[in-house]
Amino acid sequence: MTHTTPQSSRGLTASSEPTPELLEHLPCGVILVEANGQISFANIEAERILGYTKTELLTLYVEQLVPENFRGRHESFRKAFVKEPTSRAMGAGVDLYALRKDGSTVSVEIGLSPLVNQGRPQVLCSISDISERKRMEGELKRSHADLDIFAYTVAHDLKEPLRGLLRLVDFLLDDCEGQLPDIALSYLDRITLQGHRMHDLIETLLRYGQLRRSEVHASEVDMNQLVREVKEGLEPTIQQSEVEVVISESLPGASCDPTLVREVLYNLVSNGIKYNTSPLKRIEVWYDTEKGAYAVSDNGIGIPESQAEDIFNLFCRLQSSETNQKGHGLGLAIVRWVVEKHQGKIWIKSKEGQGTTFYFTLKLDSAPKCEEKLECHGRRNG
Ligand code: ADP
Repeated sequence: MTHTTPQSSRGLTASSEPTPELLEHLPCGVILVEANGQISFANIEAERILGYTKTELLTLYVEQLVPENFRGRHESFRKAFVKEPTSRAMGAGVDLYALRKDGSTVSVEIGLSPLVNQGRPQVLCSISDISERKRMEGELKRSHADLDIFAYTVAHDLKEPLRGLLRLVDFLLDDCEGQLPDIALSYLDRITLQGHRMHDLIETLLRYGQLRRSEVHASEVDMNQLVREVKEGLEPTIQQSEVEVVISESLPGASCDPTLVREVLYNLVSNGIKYNTSPLKRIEVWYDTEKGAYAVSDNGIGIPESQAEDIFNLFCRLQSSETNQKGHGLGLAIVRWVVEKHQGKIWIKSKEGQGTTFYFTLKLDSAPKCEEKLECHGRRNG
């Protein structure tokens, strides 16, 4: 991000004027723009990014560095900026391009800093060439998409032969009833059990892929209602595990994608049930006003401090597959992905043998309020 300081030009005087020698050698492009748009200073990096010599740049108006289709808009933005100048990044959330001398465009990040130099209002613009970063982001996106398609295809294609295997076991049990020794029956039972586990894993992988491909469709969501729906969906498990699930009635609404956030709540509540050996199991879904975060607390087995971050990694399971037959280590990876898609944060507070609280924020339009840095990184217990 380019520099910005929340300062108005009114506070700046001639003493704040840029020192050309210093600006000249800055590793980011700098140009100084007069109120009428004329460029009155450019440094070496600006020459490199824009492909003009300094002498050429000093004959240009800033609009000539803006691709033609944005030029009209840029001029009105510039005029508005001159009237109400504040230091800030330009075009937050929008891809910006600069027009080079040879007619090509370059991806840039621009910071604007107003100043008054000998009574003349000017704007100091920092220009960073981010084309390499953009190229790598594009590459990363494409390889993620390829990987998603690969995982989807593998998972999908594995389902069919697995179904076939399970059907054969059923035929064997039906057709050879009474002819198989007990040991063979027990092996067949284990084949069926493992087959169903594999089927579950494939379904979860497909679900994960499907979620990763989906866009966030945000709306104003009544979180109390959403949690109630999740609880209803889990009712058979809740009954079977004799667990008390308490929903605080004061959950604030959120601007979020209800389908995705339902997945978060579903995973957190069902984990609270799964990883719980208390005689009186209890899950509470509540809102921590101090932290500005939704919270799901359980009185289960807890999570060691050293693994507070690992649990969010794909395929991370804290117990061996012998003792933990219930999971695949995908749930919390999905949860973190959804929370981060909402520009939120997720972290835990846990004490082994006493229980865990998962906190998460959902902020689609502002930074998460997470003052307790240590907790954010899942490093604090108790
Ligand atoms: P899984 O499908 O194995 O449940 P998750 O990604 O949901 O996968 O969880 C990862 C691991 O984190 C689990 O295998 C379990 O060891 C641990 N875990 C998750 N939630 C809890 C919890 N509420 N209490 C204790 N351990 C938990």
